Amino acid sequence: MATPSPTTFSQPFNFSKDVRRTTLKTSTIFGPKLKSGEIEHTHLRLLTSFMTGPRLELKASKDPPGLTQQLDNSRLESLAETENVCDFFEDLKHRFLRFKKRKFKENLEHFQNLAQGQAPKFMIIACADSRVCPSNILGFQPGEAFVVRNIANLVPTFESGPSETNAALEFAVNALKVENILVIGHSRCGGIRALMSMQDEEDSSSFIRSWVVVGKNASLITKSAASNLSFDQQCRHCEKESVNHSLSNLLTYPWIEEKVARGELFVHGGYYDFIDCTFEKWTLDYEGGNLEKNSRFAVKNQFYWC
Ligand SMILES: [Zn+2]
Repeated sequence: MATPSPTTFSQPFNFSKDVRRTTLKTSTIFGPKLKSGEIEHTHLRLLTSFMTGPRLELKASKDPPGLTQQLDNSRLESLAETENVCDFFEDLKHRFLRFKKRKFKENLEHFQNLAQGQAPKFMIIACADSRVCPSNILGFQPGEAFVVRNIANLVPTFESGPSETNAALEFAVNALKVENILVIGHSRCGGIRALMSMQDEEDSSSFIRSWVVVGKNASLITKSAASNLSFDQQCRHCEKESVNHSLSNLLTYPWIEEKVARGELFVHGGYYDFIDCTFEKWTLDYEGGNLEKNSRFAVKNQFYWC
C-alpha cells in the first residue's frame, strides 16, 4: 500500500486515500452497534461479578430469605460495583506479579541498572487516551522512552509559559539528553474533536478548552484546507495537522532548536490509526531556516506500517 504520510507540513497526508478509508471503516467498525454492544458487555460483567462474587454468596447464605429479598436494587448495584472494583484490583495484582516474575526477575541485571539511572533515547508525547498507550503499541520497554501524555498530544510554544509538557521536555532534552522526540497523534481523538468544535465565544473556564486551544492554528488550517469535507473527516485531518503543528512548536524552544540544528536531536511525527491498526511515521527535515509563524518544514524518512 502506498504511503499516505506527509511530504510537507502543508500536505500532511494523502487526502483522497485518507477520506476513503474513513468513509469505509467508520460505520462498520466503530459504529453505534458496537458501542451499544460494549455497554452490554460491561453490564453483563457487572452482573456476572454480582452473581458469582464470593462475598455476596457468603452473605446470601447467612441471611434469611426474607432479608435477602429486601435488598433494593440500588444496594445491589452498589455491592456489585464494589465487587467489580475488587475484581479489577485483584486482576491488577495478578498482572503486576506476572510482570515481576516474567519481566523483572528474568531481567534482573537490566532492572538493577535502571535502578541506578535512566538514559532513554526517546521522548514520546502522546495523547492521554486510554487506547493509545505508546509502550503498548510500539513496545517500549522500561528505560527506553521518557513519556508525557496529555489531551490531544499537544506541545505548547516556548512563549506559552510553563506546563507539565514543557517541563518534561526540558528534563528529557537537557538532563536526559534524549536523541529523538516523537509526537504521536491518533484516530478518533476526543481532544482534537473538542478543538475542532471550539467556538470563540465559548466559556473559557473549561480546563479542556484552555488546553486544546494550544492547537488552534492546526484547527484553523484544517478548516481552511478541508472545509468541503464532513466534520469527522476534518477532525481526522486535524489529528495529523496538529502533530505537525506540535513539531513546529518544539522548535520554538531554543535548546531544542539548537540541538536539532546540530544534528544531536531529531524530531518525529507519528499517527496511530486504531481503526485499521496502522502507524505512520515521519521526521522533520530541519535545514536551519528561520522559524516564522506558520512556517512549513519539509519532512523525510516517511514510513507507513500496516
Ligand atoms: Zn486523543
